[in-house]
Amino acid sequence: MSYSVPKGTKDLLPEDTYKWQFVEEVIRNICRKYGFNEIRTPIFEHTEVFVRGVGDTTDVVSKEMYTFEDKGKRSITLRPEGTAGVARSIIENSIASGPQPTKLYYLSAPMFRYENPQAGRQRQFHQFGLEIFGAPNASVDAETIALAWEVLNAVGVHNLSLNINSIGCPECRPKYREKLIAYFEERKDKLCKTCLERLYKNPLRILDCKEESCHEVGKDAPLIIDHLCPECSDHFEKLKSYLDEYGINYKINPHIVRGLDYYTKTVFEIISDEIGAQGTVCGGGRYDGLVEQLGGPKLCGIGFGMGMERLMMVIEGTGAAALPEKPRLDCYIASMGENARVKCVGILKTLRDNGISADMDHVSRSMKAQFKYAGKLGVRFVASIGDNELERGMARLKNMDTGEEKEVAFAEIAEAIKNA
Ligand code: ATP
Ligand code: MG
Repeated sequence: MSYSVPKGTKDLLPEDTYKWQFVEEVIRNICRKYGFNEIRTPIFEHTEVFVRGVGDTTDVVSKEMYTFEDKGKRSITLRPEGTAGVARSIIENSIASGPQPTKLYYLSAPMFRYENPQAGRQRQFHQFGLEIFGAPNASVDAETIALAWEVLNAVGVHNLSLNINSIGCPECRPKYREKLIAYFEERKDKLCKTCLERLYKNPLRILDCKEESCHEVGKDAPLIIDHLCPECSDHFEKLKSYLDEYGINYKINPHIVRGLDYYTKTVFEIISDEIGAQGTVCGGGRYDGLVEQLGGPKLCGIGFGMGMERLMMVIEGTGAAALPEKPRLDCYIASMGENARVKCVGILKTLRDNGISADMDHVSRSMKAQFKYAGKLGVRFVASIGDNELERGMARLKNMDTGEEKEVAFAEIAEAIKNA
């Protein structure tokens, strides 16, 4: 019998975890600078948090959810995205009725979608996400995008395109929707099966269908940005001027609609050409009706989700110049015999107390084998203690990069390594 991970999931191994930790640290620092605080919500929620009254027609909710009944016969769903759970949380914890705006982020949060696994598409993946509640001005739409942009630049990713669009609001979208349905009704024979189903439920989604024939017929369809109400239009104009102020180039792409049904006004995607078909690293938008839909007060919101796996792929794909070296152990203490071992434990403690990463032999290897093991680990220094050294209270400290060796008193090993 041999075991393997479930389809669409991956182990994250030490050869990669340090890279994730570096990127996470960069993200935390940038979030702090912009005034965001971290939130951690459960990875599963009552299914109703994701499937709300009106009936979401998006792939994420209609096809991709991991939903099951627990032993108490409750319908539970492994979260496919972060926003709904965060909105639920701020309502439940009375944050939604407190002072606004509320600026939150979550980091490397596991998400679950039952999808066909392929490069950049897993069943368990991780997102860094932002949510800003209670700020209606387009300046926060721009700030959200600017933060994502800064994160990507800070981890060495520069070749990006930002696509923005506005999908209107409950004021202007219904009228546009009618026009769009009328347009596609006349061209029904050109639509794929899925888009025929979407026609009356969510016709906007036809615009970002990947099927060639739908794409073709969608090219001349009426565009929402030509049908925005004055408020949405003004919001979109302001967003553009704020992005200019941030110095961020954008492309208006009237065909982005985004996956989730609760979006209003601004939607955006940040795309990299480095990782092929699954090139969208970050997607987000405004969701002014969501908190109310979940039973909370009238509170607007905007946010994004950034796929961590895709981000790592782009970083590696662009040469990974910003990534640090894999962290190395500062000192390995090699010794022979029980007396020396007791001394080693004391030295180990002193080194660690001084902030030096250190380890020693725990498997009674020969001195030669200990050096070999330390070499494989890639340690910076080996402090070896034989009988002779033990008697004199000295260790031989070898710099493994240069091969240079010198005798150092036990009490001075920490200092010698720090000074090197
Ligand atoms: P796509 O069109 O690629 O399916 P989406 O619109 O479903 O993306 P969102 O719901 O906006 O994606 O999620 C935000 C980000 O999360 C995506 O831009 C992507 O980086 C990442 N992401 C989404 N689904 C997956 C997945 N199955 N595996 C890995 N990353 C994912
Ligand atoms: Mg998807």
